[in-house]
Amino acid sequence: MSIQISQKRLVAFNKQSGCCYYCGSPMWEGKQKEFANKHKITKKYAARFQCTAEHLLARCDGGKDQENNIVAACIFCNRNRHKRKKPLVPLKYRALIQKRLQQGKWHPKKLRHLPSPQ
Ligand SMILES: [Zn+2]
Repeated sequence: MSIQISQKRLVAFNKQSGCCYYCGSPMWEGKQKEFANKHKITKKYAARFQCTAEHLLARCDGGKDQENNIVAACIFCNRNRHKRKKPLVPLKYRALIQKRLQQGKWHPKKLRHLPSPQ
């Protein structure tokens, strides 16, 4: 990963107040242990909230490494989107996750005490 993209990830992270673009959960940037302690969860659970850069328009579809094409998403949401054969467009994927969250089906029960801004 280039330095540039990690800088843009940080910009997005700050712009979103450290919350995942998709699920709204708080994320961490480089401080997994502190994050785990702060939210009283295990390091293993904290791992899924690592901040990653997500391209709204995928690079293979011509998306650029530009700030307006990059959002910060937790690694869990990011990976799940790309597990699909044909990943949903970000807004649809986001709506799907919001629905799952309401049904309590996205993150495990143990993580539901995490603050969610949405
Ligand atoms: Zn997420």
